[in-house]
Amino acid sequence: MSRTFVGMPVFPPPTHPAFPEAARDAVHNHTLRSNLRHATHTIRAKRARAVAELSDWDRLREAGRLIKDHTLRHLDRYLVQLEESVTAAGGTVHWAVDAAEANRIVAELVKATGESEVVKVKSMATQEIGLNEALLEEGIRAYETDLAELIVQLGNDRPSHILVPAIHRNRGEIRDIFRTEMGAWGRPAPDGLTDTPAELAEAARLHLREKFLRAKVGISGANFMVAETGTLVVVESEGNGRMCLTLPETLISVVGIEKTVPTWQDLEVFLQTLPRSSTAERMNPYTSMWTGTTDEDGPRAFHLVLLDNGRTDALADQVGRQALRCIRCSACLNVCPVYERAGGHAYGSVYPGPIGAILSPQLRGTASEIDASLPYASSLCGACYEVCPVAIDIPEVLVHLRERVVEGGVAVRQGNKVVLKPAKGHAAERAAMRAARWAFSHPGALRTGQRLASRTRRLHPRTLPGPGRAWSATRDLPAAPAEPFRDWWQRTRGGKDGAK
Ligand code: SF4
Repeated sequence: MSRTFVGMPVFPPPTHPAFPEAARDAVHNHTLRSNLRHATHTIRAKRARAVAELSDWDRLREAGRLIKDHTLRHLDRYLVQLEESVTAAGGTVHWAVDAAEANRIVAELVKATGESEVVKVKSMATQEIGLNEALLEEGIRAYETDLAELIVQLGNDRPSHILVPAIHRNRGEIRDIFRTEMGAWGRPAPDGLTDTPAELAEAARLHLREKFLRAKVGISGANFMVAETGTLVVVESEGNGRMCLTLPETLISVVGIEKTVPTWQDLEVFLQTLPRSSTAERMNPYTSMWTGTTDEDGPRAFHLVLLDNGRTDALADQVGRQALRCIRCSACLNVCPVYERAGGHAYGSVYPGPIGAILSPQLRGTASEIDASLPYASSLCGACYEVCPVAIDIPEVLVHLRERVVEGGVAVRQGNKVVLKPAKGHAAERAAMRAARWAFSHPGALRTGQRLASRTRRLHPRTLPGPGRAWSATRDLPAAPAEPFRDWWQRTRGGKDGAK
C-alpha cells in the first residue's frame, strides 16, 4: 500500500485561533469531555494519595524550588560545566538558538550517518521545534515509540496532554486507529484486534519491536541533565525509551537549557517528586541515565543539542522565569477546571494546560492571537499552584502576562499583512473603568442609577450588547436587587450614616 507519510502538525498552525474560539468545539464534545474528566479525576486522586504518604512533601517541594531557582540564576556557569562534562565523557555538544537551528543540526547529524529513518523516545522539546516535520522535509522519517505518541502519530493527531498525549482518545478509538493506520507505517495490527488494553499493548509492542531492531539512529529529549558529570536522565514508564536510548548506534538528544541540575544530590529531590506528581508512583519504573559514550555498550556516538528557543527571554523576566522551573509532571493539568473542559488542543501548543498558558506566551511572545489569549485561559483558582512540585505560582505569572498583553497589543492578520492592534477588550475595559470612576465620585448619580436599575430589573437583558457580548456569553449577568443596598440600609438601620 503506498502512502504519503506526514509528521504531526506543527505547533501552532499559523492561523491558530484564540483560545476561546479554539475551545468552543471541545466544550461541546461530550465524548472528549467524558474521556478527559475520567482520566484527570483518576490521576489527580491517585496523585493526592501518593503525595499524602510523605510527611516531608512540603520540604521536598521547597527544596525543588530552591534548586531550580539557584540553577537558573547561575545557568551560564552550569551550562558551561555541563558542556565540559559531556565532552570529557565522549559526547559532542551543539548549541541551538532557535527551532530552525536545532532542526538543521539534527538533520545534518542524521544525514551524516547515511540513514533515512530514526526512532524517537517521547520528547516535548522536539515537538516544540517541529523536528519530525523538519526531518521529513529532508527525507528522514521519524517513528515515535512512546505508546501514546505512537497513537498520536498514527492518527495524524496532536498531543493534548504532557504526560498522556492521547488522553483525548478512548480504547475504541485507539483500536480503530491501529486497525486502519498501523499497516501504512510498518507491521499491521493483528487480525481481530479488540480494544482490551493487553491486546492494544501487544499490537504496539510487535509494531515497534521491528523498528527498534532496525534503527541506527535514536532521538531523545531528557528530563534532567546533571552538570557535574554530564549525565542525561530520561524518566518514562514503558521501557520503550530505554530501547531507543541503548540500541541505536547514534543517539541525538535535544534538550531545553533549563533542564540542567548542578549535582546528583539535586537530582535526588526530583526523582522523588516527579513520579508522585505525574503518575502517582513512589518510584519511576524506567529511569535511564547515560554519560557520554562507553566502549562496547550503547550508542557509539552521542550528540547533545542544547536548545534555547525563547528560554533566555523567559529567564530575563523576573516574574515569568519561574515557569522554567517546570519538571513537566502535568499535575497542574489534572486539577485545572479549564483544561478539563477545553482539552489540550485549544492551547495551540505542545504545552497545554496551566503551564502551557504561561510557558508558550513566554517562549513565543504574546504577538499572536493564540499566545495573547492564553494568559486569560484560567479562572485564577490557584489549584495549579497548590499541586505544583516546584511551587510555580502560575496565577501570579498569568496576571503578569495579561499585563504584558494589554501593554503590547496583539498581531492580527489583515489580508497579507500582520498589524498590531490593542488587545481585545482593552478599549472596552478602559471605558468601563472610566465610567466606574465617574459613578463612584458622583454619589447622587450612583444612587439614582441604582434605584433605576432596581425598578427596571425585569427588563434587563440576559447578555451584554456590543463588546461586552463575549464576556456575558459564558457568564450569568448579576441580577439587580429589588431594593438597592443603601435604601435597605437606611430603611432598616435608620439615618444615612447607619445610626438608629
Ligand atoms: S507547572 Fe508544576 S505542576 Fe505543572 S507540569 Fe510543571 S512542574 Fe508540574
